[in-house]
Amino acid sequence: MAYDPQNVFARILRGEIPCRKVYEDEWSLAFHDINPLAPVHVLVIPKGPYVSMADFTAKASDAELAGFFRAVGQVARDLGLEEGGYRMLANTGAAANQEVPHLHVHLFAGAPLGPMLKKVVV
Ligand code: 5GP
Repeated sequence: MAYDPQNVFARILRGEIPCRKVYEDEWSLAFHDINPLAPVHVLVIPKGPYVSMADFTAKASDAELAGFFRAVGQVARDLGLEEGGYRMLANTGAAANQEVPHLHVHLFAGAPLGPMLKKVVV
């Protein structure tokens, strides 16, 4: 999938749409999800134009890769999520209903999160 520079997270990165920022550095931005599904629901995104984890890990520099993964861990620590536990999730493509075509990791916390995934029967 080609990167669409008009996707909503690209617009947040350009400052065209506001967000409730949690963390920002050279490589990454983290902000509260507009439609939280848990008491804590934060999105962490790389600043570069990557659709998915496959796209990111194929094309990004080592500095971008390290910066992004360090940011995910930093956000979890900053928000105190390690103690009670949390879930990281990255929807990718149609089967996962990825809504925004810019790589993002969801961090969920603040309550028991239930099973990892609703069982999918084929
Ligand atoms: P996906 O389904 O792509 O993994 O998740 C996209 C997430 O982005 C959803 O949880 C949705 O609520 C969130 N989202 C969509 N538009 C906006 C927005 O304009 N601002 C913020 N903060 N979150 C958004």
